[in-house]
Amino acid sequence: MPQPTALITGITGQDGSYLARDLLESGYRVLGTSGSSSSKMWRFEALGITDNPNLEIVNWDITDPEQTLKIVEETKPTEIYNLASHSFVADSIFTAQKTTQVSALAVVNILEAISLKSPETRFFQAGSSEMFGNTVSSPQNEGSVFAPRNIYGSAKAFAHFVSLNYKQNRNVFSCAGILYNHESPLRGKEFVTKKITSAVARIKLNQSDQLIIGNLSTLRDWGYAPEYVEAMRLVIGHETPDTFVISSGVATTVRDFVLESFNSADLDIVFEGSGLLEVGYEKSTGRQLVSVDEHFYRDSESVPLVGDASKANKILGWKSKTTPAEIAQIMVKKDLEILSEDKS
Ligand code: GDP
Repeated sequence: MPQPTALITGITGQDGSYLARDLLESGYRVLGTSGSSSSKMWRFEALGITDNPNLEIVNWDITDPEQTLKIVEETKPTEIYNLASHSFVADSIFTAQKTTQVSALAVVNILEAISLKSPETRFFQAGSSEMFGNTVSSPQNEGSVFAPRNIYGSAKAFAHFVSLNYKQNRNVFSCAGILYNHESPLRGKEFVTKKITSAVARIKLNQSDQLIIGNLSTLRDWGYAPEYVEAMRLVIGHETPDTFVISSGVATTVRDFVLESFNSADLDIVFEGSGLLEVGYEKSTGRQLVSVDEHFYRDSESVPLVGDASKANKILGWKSKTTPAEIAQIMVKKDLEILSEDKS
């Protein structure tokens, strides 16, 4: 059997890096494209795949239809995973055109190229819980109403529908995951979990005094990124192309994630007050460790974004396993290691 080839858009991101590692371990040749600079290669370094001879970053701008046609025609990949996006939601209103080009229009380029040049290629579209946005019911499943509340969610919803159109009308093997928040030591520092765990590590090592944060009462459905990448492979490997919600099904407050993170560093914390006036301090010493700043404050959702992944469990045998408390522990441990290494 010839060596399978996978193309990953957004390969240098958190999910792209884990996915590349897993596919390499399964014997794939992995080609990827990334909109960001080589400074983002730190994740490949962390996973030890930088020099893998089966891994290649290709020169491909997914927003360019001609380039996309060419790369798909030349490589005829077994699988394409579309993970590229401007995923930091808080910024998407300021990057509306770029977000739309990358997260929405590029999907048309890729699916068109598959349909015309490589109809055997299987396609995975990474959707997001942000497609549900202000939806009316919770938990959400594959039948819940999309009601995106930002450009990122709108772009992802468009891409999702387009992926279904190419399946129905052009016979492309086009499948999708609707992924809820998933975290790991490879998460970008603009996301709240990584911001929390790296601040906790700095506080523990006396390199910082406080974590300054936004809304502590917001709920998120957090899972562990390596498990979500496994789910992507199960979705694309399933006999028929279909859509699956990939989530933990558990809503956790930012406050609880902060608490678990401090606990992971053996710091005992209690909270007092509410909203912008909420503070967290160390129980034993009274030292203030957390304060809220309106600069980071976003209102909570009217309906919590929590996913019901029972379809993925039933059909694919997939289930989210690592809890937010365990994720906090893994991330704090890694951040402490990194800071300690930097000092030595
Ligand atoms: P998102 O779900 O894609 O917005 O992922 P984030 O990790 O950026 O944010 C998760 C939640 O944490 C959001 O509801 C934010 O309002 C909340 N949050 C509270 N404080 C902060 C903060 O300081 N930074 C970020 N990024 N989010 C925060």
